[in-house]
Amino acid sequence: MNRRIQNQFIANYLLMFSISTMIAIVAFMILVFANEVVSKTLAKNNYTAKSLMRDDYKNINTALVINNGGGVQIINSSYKVVLSKGLNTISKEELTTGQFTDFLIMSKSKGILYSYSIEYNPNRKFWLVITFPTSVRIDFAVVHNKDFTSVDTKGVVGIIAAVIIFYIMLLAVSTIIYSKLTSISIINPLKKLCFSARCLKDGDYSSRVNLNLKNEFGELECIFNEMAQQIEKEISLRMQSEENRKKLILDISHDLKNPLTSIMGYAQFCSNKLDLSKQECGTYMKVIYKNSLRANNLITDLFELSKMESSEYVINKTKVDICEYMRQEIGTLIATFDKAGFIYDFDIPEKEVFAEIDVNQIDRVLQNLANNARQYNPKGTKVTINLVDKDEKIVIIFKDNGIGIPKAVAKEIFNPFVRVDSVRNSHRGGTGLGLAIALKVILAHGGNINLKTEENCGCEFIIKIPKI
Ligand code: ADP
Repeated sequence: MNRRIQNQFIANYLLMFSISTMIAIVAFMILVFANEVVSKTLAKNNYTAKSLMRDDYKNINTALVINNGGGVQIINSSYKVVLSKGLNTISKEELTTGQFTDFLIMSKSKGILYSYSIEYNPNRKFWLVITFPTSVRIDFAVVHNKDFTSVDTKGVVGIIAAVIIFYIMLLAVSTIIYSKLTSISIINPLKKLCFSARCLKDGDYSSRVNLNLKNEFGELECIFNEMAQQIEKEISLRMQSEENRKKLILDISHDLKNPLTSIMGYAQFCSNKLDLSKQECGTYMKVIYKNSLRANNLITDLFELSKMESSEYVINKTKVDICEYMRQEIGTLIATFDKAGFIYDFDIPEKEVFAEIDVNQIDRVLQNLANNARQYNPKGTKVTINLVDKDEKIVIIFKDNGIGIPKAVAKEIFNPFVRVDSVRNSHRGGTGLGLAIALKVILAHGGNINLKTEENCGCEFIIKIPKI
């Protein structure tokens, strides 16, 4: 799996990280811009010493500074404070050269509580000192100052609040979009899986999921579809076997009904007609016997078949030289073929090939094939039996060139009660169970039996048994 959910999550988190970093950068840039704008509105920038400077310091507009919380001092060339209005951070009235120099140095340093604007008037030889308390600054240092008035704060606080709200909103929107995207990639496949599972539960066994994903959901999709396919197969097998069971019961009752009706009819007739001649009586008894035999054969075959289908059924296998066994078996079959006026040919290799078989059961299979060939084919039919020693299998080919079986019936011929022509066969006495029993016997030996046939082209039964 190339892209698992974990990778997807990492990708999504990286995306979210990049988005929030970008939002933070944008917010910072807005803050810098706001700082620019705000600084232009600050009193300390609007009322600088340079802009207020006059040759006669009495004409300096000190009211503008004082109304905005600041202070004005005039220091003459002897470093004496000749005028002081409003905020005053120069504690003395007269300074030494050193103290004034220290004051000038201090006024330029950063992070102090006051901002100073100092201008020298070379004509009149005095310094103009404008002092404002440092207000809240739009950067990461917030300076508290007891002299600070709220004049500057309105705009500053407004802008900071706007930037923070904008930042929070952007972050919230991107978080919502991110969580939606993440949940879609999980919820959508889950929804599809739930839908298909519900269809399956409601009996739609053809329901499948199509996610087209290469992560764990893709794996789940494969497992789900395989499971659904398995369930569909099992259900159709179960339905098929239920159908077969119903058909079997119908066939059994139908096949038993004919001989039993006949037996009942003749028995009743004989018991009512007490004046029947010995000859008539003998004829009717023969019919009763023939039909009882037929009913008995059917019940015996059915009993045999159900025994084989039971889980307790075991075959008594013994190690046998199959070539020698076939030669002996063919010896007994020859009488059947001779009686039917058949031509025959056998090819059994002159060597020892061993297999483990239940001799009685294999006898039964071969006799059924021989009886079928005799029963359903005309005089002069040619029968061949070949044994081929092939790799790990022994192949017995039982072939006739008789009437054959139509392709459509041949597919089902190993199922119980399947006959080419039920009228023809019931007349000849077949139960339709012989090949079904033969299949069970061969399967119980770990082999298989197949039929190659075509109407009027004869039948070729191919039996494969594992050798040892
Ligand atoms: P049955 O007891 O009817 O013989 P089988 O299962 O042995 O039952 O055979 C099923 C049907 O297959 C027969 O009824 C017959 O129609 C057909 N069949 C079997 N073997 C041959 C064969 N060698 N030639 C023609 N038809 C055959």
